[in-house]
Amino acid sequence: MKGFEYLQAELDEMKQQGTFRTLIPLESDQASRVVIDGKELIQLSSNNYLGLTTHPRLVEASIKAAEKFGAGTGSVRTIAGTFTMHEELETKLAEFKHTEAALVFQSGFTTNQGVLSSILTKEDVVISDSLNHASIIDGIRLTKAARKVYNHVDVADLERALKESADYRVRLIVTDGVFSMDGNIAPLPEIVELAEKYDALVMVDDAHASGVLGQNGRGTVNHFGLDGRVHIQVGTLSKAVGVLGGYVASTRTLIDYLIQKGRPFLFSTSHPPAVTAACIEAINVLIEEPELIDKLWDNAKFFKKGLEDLGFDTGKSETPVTPVIVGDEALSHQFSDKLREYGVFAQGIAFPTVAKGQARVRTIVTAEHSKEELQKALDIFEKAAKELNILK
Ligand code: PMP
Repeated sequence: MKGFEYLQAELDEMKQQGTFRTLIPLESDQASRVVIDGKELIQLSSNNYLGLTTHPRLVEASIKAAEKFGAGTGSVRTIAGTFTMHEELETKLAEFKHTEAALVFQSGFTTNQGVLSSILTKEDVVISDSLNHASIIDGIRLTKAARKVYNHVDVADLERALKESADYRVRLIVTDGVFSMDGNIAPLPEIVELAEKYDALVMVDDAHASGVLGQNGRGTVNHFGLDGRVHIQVGTLSKAVGVLGGYVASTRTLIDYLIQKGRPFLFSTSHPPAVTAACIEAINVLIEEPELIDKLWDNAKFFKKGLEDLGFDTGKSETPVTPVIVGDEALSHQFSDKLREYGVFAQGIAFPTVAKGQARVRTIVTAEHSKEELQKALDIFEKAAKELNILK
């Protein structure tokens, strides 16, 4: 059919520049090893930090919920699609995050969009870290609020932006808790101090910190002992939690407001019983099996040290997200291809996801990996890097 030649031209250009993405389907479950094209590979590209995607307790909870309550919910939450289990999950999340209330959205992405687009008007200003996630950027685009961007994790630059913002009704600072491409942690104590000094609100996106940092994986706010001092905590149920969805944990007022005004919440059907029940069970697992988080960190330290001992540049990583920075865009893809040929699935990430000249292979180890798997992966990284002259 004719009509999309203008899009095809752009795609052809992307193919020429090597930025065209192809999807790589898994033929197995999402675990420490995955099957791609009939070949078993060590998985270092998923966000399945604790291995919960295949945890028997979550799978059983899903099956039981589907059998008892069906496959779908048949409505948005505000009409006929709120089941008791949705509220049970939200109560659990609020308790877990030490907040008054919580609300679940369809994804982490729509949570950021829903929160940012509904609570700010043109009388307000939003002040955002330059490396915040795309969903925060899109959420900000949906508001009529003024926008300021401060240099990545630069609290002096944040203070400059706050000083310029005295005349607005509300100043909202928004930051990722853990940055997804570098694995560094936001300087939250300093951000909170500045927020208190300049009478600003703070919103943290803990997508990569929930289930990873803080007591039982409560996130960056708890990690820094800042419970009660951060106004809005957003997170995802799709990474360490192992399932699907997003949530916001905050005051009763904010949650009640989002139930009235959060557009993705209002106009999109609620999560099926199997998803919701698995999320509830995941929170139980976080509380009852803290050894999973210990294992995650033990593995992350082992793997990062192994990479550094080999001479790789792992950037500013402080968490299980560990980039292996190679710089050149094409080289990052060649490196990833070679890793895959030798048995490791670790995706190359290049511009525009990261800055030009900062291309990398991003790795995330999980609690599920054995030390043998990680050592094998390190050997493969060394071999592939030497062949490509990344390592001498
Ligand atoms: N925020 C951050 C920081 C993320 O890394 C992601 C996941 N890519 C999201 C939000 C979106 O979460 P979800 O995948 O649940 O939509």
